Amino acid sequence: MNTLDPVSKYVIDTHELNRAAGNSKQYELMLDPLADFTNGAVEIAAADQIKVLILLESVIDGILVTGNAAAIASGECSRCLDPVRLEISGELTDLYAYSDKDIRTDEADEVRILEGDLLDLEPAVRDALVLAMPLRPLCNDMCLGLCGQCGIRLDEEPDHVHEVVDPRWARLTELKKEN
Ligand SMILES: [Zn+2]
Ligand SMILES: [Zn+2]
Repeated sequence: MNTLDPVSKYVIDTHELNRAAGNSKQYELMLDPLADFTNGAVEIAAADQIKVLILLESVIDGILVTGNAAAIASGECSRCLDPVRLEISGELTDLYAYSDKDIRTDEADEVRILEGDLLDLEPAVRDALVLAMPLRPLCNDMCLGLCGQCGIRLDEEPDHVHEVVDPRWARLTELKKEN
């Protein structure tokens, strides 16, 4: 019941590891991002590839995948809304169990499963990248953001102030003076 596409670059045929504990093989892959590689704040743009450096090791219950996935994440600065591009990098440590091994049910949702000899890297790479994505991306740590009144970028005009002329603000101005 294979559902994995062996032609997909995310799918690795582990046949040559031969289920012999101790065998290992290193992979360096450049992968196209998938649409759900996002945390809602940033995403990996279709034109940006993901660099994956991993070691596959045959262990008793399956294949252990360790390594790193790195890419450029795109989004907008959470303060000034400028476009941002950030290097992100996440670690992978994922056990893919042989599908014919008994897996205790309380562990089942934490364990990834091989389909025959085929190993689908997609969920492991997605998790590694999404966990590395910032929830509040910034164009730079010191970004001053936008003026709350007129929306101008405060980085460009750090001394920017508004003359308060609206009578509704007059009381506020008095309070400030009192302080
Ligand atoms: Zn910014
Ligand atoms: Zn302003």
